[in-house]
Amino acid sequence: MMRSIRKAAVIGSGVMGSGIAAHLANAGIPCLLLDIVPKQPTDEETAKGLTLEHAAVRSRLAAQAVEKLRKTKPSPLYDDAFADRITPGNLDDHLALIADVDWVIEVVVENLEVKQRLLSRVEAHWKPGTVVSSNTSGISIEAMSADCSESFRRHFLGTHFFNPPRYMKLLELIPGELTEPDIVSGMREFCEKRLGKGVVLAKDTPNFIANRIGTYGLLVTLQEMLDKGFAVEEVDAVTGPAMGRPKSATFRTLDLVGIDTFVHVANNVYESTQDEAEKAVFAVPAALRGMVEKGWLGEKSGQGFYLKQ
Ligand code: NAD
Repeated sequence: MMRSIRKAAVIGSGVMGSGIAAHLANAGIPCLLLDIVPKQPTDEETAKGLTLEHAAVRSRLAAQAVEKLRKTKPSPLYDDAFADRITPGNLDDHLALIADVDWVIEVVVENLEVKQRLLSRVEAHWKPGTVVSSNTSGISIEAMSADCSESFRRHFLGTHFFNPPRYMKLLELIPGELTEPDIVSGMREFCEKRLGKGVVLAKDTPNFIANRIGTYGLLVTLQEMLDKGFAVEEVDAVTGPAMGRPKSATFRTLDLVGIDTFVHVANNVYESTQDEAEKAVFAVPAALRGMVEKGWLGEKSGQGFYLKQ
């Protein structure tokens, strides 16, 4: 039976979290959008007398994400009021509000320890019956929820949306060992019928299906082409429009995904394998690490392989 989702909470308001919240909100589902409390207010906020004690400043990351969604409306197909259905908040002050939602989606940075710590915090406010899922690109669903109770793990699974959620129809569902079958089937039906997704069930293996293949393709292209001195634009012209993929050429895709996120995703396979040949493919090129160190994270930071227009 289709899962009934009246309200949802998305935790993490970055590239994917804000996009997922927008997609849910456009489907008529009110959404909390939570993020961490930023360390310091900006100079401008301080000048206005705002400190981290003020709720608006404490919820700045999520509030800014909602403002950006409102201004740039991610899809012409979204209705005009979609952003009004997203309520921003922060993890320190507003996490208890998840007791009133039917689905909590974890969409924070691709790091096992961060996700484990977050799930423990979520479980402290979780009410049985609420589905909890992770948007991880490929971290083990089992490992992530290892410290949680059996009851929680029966309600926990991977729901892997693709970037950008407004256009990408694919959604991988990744059940854990204990996930209840009716939660998997109920979420599948919900994601297909209410969110318009094409759902594929994947096993809990490093990077599941799509990113196991996709990361491989991107890394091989990167290593081959950069080593041989091809220009970024040339490679994109061939791997994008010429292959009938106007928006998903190699380097543009990396900028869209986020260079830091891509490094985490590639590392996930690298660290999970003992196979030397596989390690050689999934070793992240030094050039990418250098970009992360410089803060060239792709579209989200304004500079990646391309400068954001
Ligand atoms: P992002 O860098 O845009 O956003 C990450 C968010 O995590 C930020 O809002 C940040 O404030 C928050 N965060 C950072 N440290 C945290 C902490 N200690 N506790 C709680 N929150 C913290 O990343 P993203 O691209 O939105 O990726 C989020 C998740 O979605 C990752 O698991 C990623 O692998 C997955 N994903 C990403 C893509 C993509 O193309 N970028 C696609 C599919 C899945």
